[in-house]
Amino acid sequence: MTKRNFILNALSKKCPRCQEGDLFIAPFEFSKPLNMPESCPVCSQKFEPEPGFYYGSMFLSYIFSAFFFLGIMGVCIIVFKFSLNLSMFILLLIAAATYFFFLRMSRSIWINIMIGYDPDAKKKTQTKSFGY
Ligand SMILES: [Zn+2]
Repeated sequence: MTKRNFILNALSKKCPRCQEGDLFIAPFEFSKPLNMPESCPVCSQKFEPEPGFYYGSMFLSYIFSAFFFLGIMGVCIIVFKFSLNLSMFILLLIAAATYFFFLRMSRSIWINIMIGYDPDAKKKTQTKSFGY
């Protein structure tokens, strides 16, 4: 398997080190939206290398959702000429529907930024906290 672009890998929610193991446990449960295995089932990369590792992903989530919601408001008001109240109502529905998507996506992007791809990841059995 060849190295994938880290953005594509983040979008597919795969382990950043081997790009094969899944970051989140399926099936999705509402009570545990961030249900991740402790380490990658394929290469044993730790998914929480240090306490508070995903603190920074909050900022990513904020940036992505802010621009996304701004775009929705723009389309509602400028393109469809909805009133401000109706646009806000539509935005709240969309925000609720995409909440878990942004939550998981920001974690996936964050760990893909912090940990690099390792072509020999599957051969190594020892646990590494960071890929560099
Ligand atoms: Zn892995």
